[in-house]
Amino acid sequence: MTDYRAIAKQISLPSKAFVDGEWCDARSGKTFETANPATGEVLAELPLCDDADVDIAVAAARAAFRSGVWSCLHPSERKDVLIRFAGLIEDNLTELAVIEALDAGKPITDCLEIDVPETARCIRWHAEAQDKIYDQVAPSSPDAVGLIVREPVGVVAAVLPWNFPLMMMAWKIGPALATGNSVIVKPAEQTSLTALRIAELAIEAGVPAGVLNVLTGMGPDVGEPLGRHVGVDALTFTGSTEVGRKFLEYAAQSNMKEVCLEMGGKSAAVVLEDARDIGRIAELQANAIFWNMGENCTANSRIIVHESVHDDLVEALRHQAAAWSVGDPLNPETRNGPLVSQDHFTKVSSLVRAGLDEGARIVCGGQAGEGLEFQPTIFADVTREMTIFQEEIFGPVLAVTRASTDEEAIELANATPYGLAATLYTTDVAKAHRCARQLEAGTVSVNSYSEGEISTPFGGFKASGFGGRDNGLHAHEQYTELKTIWIDLTG
Ligand code: NAD
Repeated sequence: MTDYRAIAKQISLPSKAFVDGEWCDARSGKTFETANPATGEVLAELPLCDDADVDIAVAAARAAFRSGVWSCLHPSERKDVLIRFAGLIEDNLTELAVIEALDAGKPITDCLEIDVPETARCIRWHAEAQDKIYDQVAPSSPDAVGLIVREPVGVVAAVLPWNFPLMMMAWKIGPALATGNSVIVKPAEQTSLTALRIAELAIEAGVPAGVLNVLTGMGPDVGEPLGRHVGVDALTFTGSTEVGRKFLEYAAQSNMKEVCLEMGGKSAAVVLEDARDIGRIAELQANAIFWNMGENCTANSRIIVHESVHDDLVEALRHQAAAWSVGDPLNPETRNGPLVSQDHFTKVSSLVRAGLDEGARIVCGGQAGEGLEFQPTIFADVTREMTIFQEEIFGPVLAVTRASTDEEAIELANATPYGLAATLYTTDVAKAHRCARQLEAGTVSVNSYSEGEISTPFGGFKASGFGGRDNGLHAHEQYTELKTIWIDLTG
């Protein structure tokens, strides 16, 4: 078996921000520590950037954009560079996977099999699409030509969460770079390391200096100045609903930049009376809540189940939970590592305490393990008023609620402020179509747990999303402006 602990010791980790093709410190000279959540060991001291660094990065991104060195390339030239970039990510699979596991506490097997390959795949998909997209010509009289064209917005800022550091970066920079923009990435302060290495690989692939920049630091010091900067044309964010709201304020109070928000969720799986194969449903749903320590925006943290199959499902879920080993992220057998930070651990623990205090029945888990590890936890007898039914926990904690009719099940599934994803189990194809339409969610999976693929748009209804979608060609819309060029031919 590969010894990832030994590999980790040999990797040299980035320790600077990346602006205009160069490694740099914060102008203030200040730094902050990023630590391994599995051990508490400090991995690196990173620049604590602030608004002065934001000004420099925006100027570099704007200059690169105006120069046309990237924005005015033929789409097929951008495609070639980005395909090379995706290839370099694949060439550096092990290194990137180990850095991600160290910095985020994610299991190494997931990093190797999902996070890094999906990152490369996302960048390649958008690269390959770009030289196959046509603009439009409007219907007009023979005396005029009306062109409807899409142009890159200019300077894009991407503010990222810590739960899928590489993949969330790819979901933003893939379409933003493919469409010709310059980008400034602000990774989550807990997990900045892979973003820095990715920027370095982009330059190696041929992305010009200033086109992809990474500023490390805290949300209020870097995220807010990016959100308020008049030199930023579009801001794309993935993170909590609470911070997402702030970006709308920042935009409204500055230049009304385009804002695209992918935010929190409290996604439900609905198991109807006619659902079959409860064992398989339990396996899929254990994955849907426990995978990535439950630190997943589409985690199905609620199950609404018809009373006729309730007890069998809860028992099968309890059995599944026991199979989720929690341990060292660098051990390839580990399915779940620690939660990302002490603050997050405290939040998850307090929500579990609220579940107990408000009368939910604990089926399994509920306790911590070593350090920041949290055991897979299932609550039954959860009602809609309870905190664990309404609030995103973002940990491996499942709330099971009983319903007596299909209508009640759908109504309960929709009874939170969120609308990111939903899952539906039924063997009746007519019900599947009808209920999928009734579920208030950006993605509905039927008889599976899924977020769709890179080709399908991803985003949320209600308090889960605003202003656009990640993935698919739909993601290009938030990084491009629609322009009409009307040419009078009579003169
Ligand atoms: P967060 O909102 O706390 O932080 C996200 C980013 O915003 C970080 O880079 C942070 O530094 C920055 N930020 C924090 N405060 C800020 C401020 N005042 N101004 C500007 N920027 C600020 O979220 P998180 O804890 O990193 O991630 C977890 C959340 O992300 C969960 O709610 C989860 O559901 C959500 N998420 C959503 C999706 C999706 O696609 N919908 C995907 C992954 C995660």
